Amino acid sequence: MNSLVGIFTSLEEMKKNPRPINYVMGRDGIYEIRHNGVGFFSKKVTEEIEELERVEEGFTPSLPKIPLEILMEIIDAFKKAQPKEKVAQVFWNKQTKKHFVKYPHQKGDRYAVTFQRDVPENCILVLEMHSHPGDFAQFSPVDDRDEIATGLYGIVAGLHRERPKIRLRMSCNGYYKPLKLGEVFELGDYQCG
Ligand SMILES: [Zn+2]
Repeated sequence: MNSLVGIFTSLEEMKKNPRPINYVMGRDGIYEIRHNGVGFFSKKVTEEIEELERVEEGFTPSLPKIPLEILMEIIDAFKKAQPKEKVAQVFWNKQTKKHFVKYPHQKGDRYAVTFQRDVPENCILVLEMHSHPGDFAQFSPVDDRDEIATGLYGIVAGLHRERPKIRLRMSCNGYYKPLKLGEVFELGDYQCG
């Protein structure tokens, strides 16, 4: 890195070895602090900082994608549960290194489903999906409230269709971002509705 520029996680660190131009992480963002014989001059940074790496919002998986058969199995279970909502959880077994589906103990009706979020031993909860028995292929305000835990979530609606509507999203502690089906599932040439 350019020796004229320093990047620090605290003011204390910067003051040990200030450069002419310093970037310091503050509680509400990054500050540019210029140092000369007179003192330290600081401004909050609103533009891009070339010296820092580009970081983007989104999801980067640490596990293989979920096999398409699992998605098909879930859709089938959702169809059979109609007109009630149903929830499915996809886990990763750390020992067998395979995905599997579980339908937790649940109570569903037309508009909601309640269930216990238990994770079996040696497993990681990868994705939670539930059905919307109608054609409403959007996450509801109730879903927003229930899906705060950081992870992957999905809904399947329009179950009467040949290709039901599937929507996926990530939650980063309640900050939601839509994901494409192919970011989570191994799709091959499957195309969703
Ligand atoms: Zn829902």
